[in-house]
Amino acid sequence: MFQLSGKVALVTGGSRGIGRACAEALAEQGATVVVNYVKGEAQAREVADQIVANGGKAEIAGFDVADTKATESAIEELAKRHGRLDVLVANAGISIDGLLLRLKDEDTDRLFQVNVKGSLACAKAATKVMMRAKTGRIIFLSSVVGEMGNAGQTAYAASKAAVIGAAKSIAREFASRSITVNVISPGFIDTDMTSGMTEAMKEQLVKVVPLGRTGTAREIAGACVYLASDEAAYVTGQVIRVNGGMYV
Ligand code: NAD
Repeated sequence: MFQLSGKVALVTGGSRGIGRACAEALAEQGATVVVNYVKGEAQAREVADQIVANGGKAEIAGFDVADTKATESAIEELAKRHGRLDVLVANAGISIDGLLLRLKDEDTDRLFQVNVKGSLACAKAATKVMMRAKTGRIIFLSSVVGEMGNAGQTAYAASKAAVIGAAKSIAREFASRSITVNVISPGFIDTDMTSGMTEAMKEQLVKVVPLGRTGTAREIAGACVYLASDEAAYVTGQVIRVNGGMYV
């Protein structure tokens, strides 16, 4: 089960955190993984080298998902080179926190440019390839705060809620082509994105997690592998929550 041999998967923002864990897990199942990065070329190369050292197949591709034109042409190019693109993991994302009354317009714009428009540009380019193949898997990354809200994260939460609405719509648009579109909604996961929090903040947060701990990137990668697999062919338009029970 969950074999991905012969498939090509693109993971945006794959050089660290959840993206890295997804790239590694997809490669373990046999997929050829394209690790996208925007700034961390050395880190992305290290991920790809590690995958290859473990007997997998990987390469890197630098593009900024916020640049929708560059993103679309990079995806078109890599799909042409491989002759296919089976899985897109639209993982690249940023967080900018702030209470509504202090929210800067430019921060909201940036969050939507990367988290929403960036993810949609990837999906648009990927569906063009997948439509011809009449199969494909698109996996978006939302967040528990996009579903339940969080004081101090209004704009980030809005961007992550937008991803869910978009994914459900794309799922409906492409179901007739056997392209499935789903969302992983992580809870509080230990990565660089959350490393800025103080221990006191983390302790407070963990109190509202029934499983009593933060999650790992590897635990998100498990859901990613499942959604990418043939076994998930009948799952589309869904939000898979990996949040320790924080939101049920
Ligand atoms: P991270 O900051 O460790 O990794 C994000 C990656 O995205 C980085 O590699 C970064 O370089 C890349 N990226 C950012 N902007 C980009 C751009 N314009 N173009 C290409 N790549 C870009 O964060 P993470 O914790 O691994 O988060 C991954 C995804 O999961 C994000 O979408 C995030 O919103 C979501 N998420 C994370 C958590 C968590 O607790 N860590 C919770 C819920 C959702």
